[in-house]
Amino acid sequence: MSEITLKNICKQYDDEHYAVKDFNLDIHDKEFVIFVGPSGCGKSTTLRMIAGLEDISDGELWIDDELCNYLEPRDRGMSMVFQNYALYPNMTVYDNMAYALKIRKMPKAEIDEKVHQAAKTLEIEHLLKRRPGALSGGQKQRVAIGSAIVRKPKAFLMDEPLSNLDAKLRAQMRIELSKLHRELGTTIIYVTHDQTEAMTLGTRIVVMKDGIVQQVAEPQKLYNNP
Ligand code: ADP
Ligand code: ADP
Repeated sequence: MSEITLKNICKQYDDEHYAVKDFNLDIHDKEFVIFVGPSGCGKSTTLRMIAGLEDISDGELWIDDELCNYLEPRDRGMSMVFQNYALYPNMTVYDNMAYALKIRKMPKAEIDEKVHQAAKTLEIEHLLKRRPGALSGGQKQRVAIGSAIVRKPKAFLMDEPLSNLDAKLRAQMRIELSKLHRELGTTIIYVTHDQTEAMTLGTRIVVMKDGIVQQVAEPQKLYNNP
């Protein structure tokens, strides 16, 4: 069971104004939480503070009863998936997915099993020997998700992972992400400005505007659509 709690989290890039102000949220195990809202409202900043890629200006971040404001990213047990895939271009798909586990000195056989299992889930087993340059956008995004899966994180943090894909592929990947969430049974925190994505994927939706949380609700209970 893992639990992520944000208590009055604030971010100021300068003294003048808040990029995020007093963000409060309890994220429960296995939730699919969506941060939605217009560009610049603070979604990505909040996600990056949870990941540890951005300092928290004020407030408290708790992960499993541990105060994590100053914890190194690698010690937070989160896996990020970015819009631009963040793959290593000179490594094969297999090596991209295996990389984090190799660094952790996991035995080869175990790495092999995990990579193949994730590749099977994502239906990219036939691509394992290719390099990212020889993949389509959707395939690259699957590899990025695969690299995150093998880490067995407490939570996936996804920042607009589908926004570089065309509409058709986006629709397909939405279905697959829902399925993946059910199958893996882990927490996902997901940033998007796309209302359809928010409404179809989220078990809970956080609507943001100008750095402030406007609403937190299950999709069917939002009083007006994001
Ligand atoms: P969103 O993800 O919702 O588009 P962001 O979290 O990226 O919004 O940005 C929130 C606010 O913080 C915006 O006003 C943005 O300009 C500002 N901001 C984001 N990153 C930086 C940065 N590195 N330096 C200064 N301001 C930033
Ligand atoms: P370690 O094995 O020590 O965790 P990694 O190379 O796996 O080192 O990653 C270090 C940190 O870099 C991660 O914990 C994470 O915060 C960040 N990171 C960068 N890219 C990713 C990604 N695609 N997925 C997950 N984390 C990433």
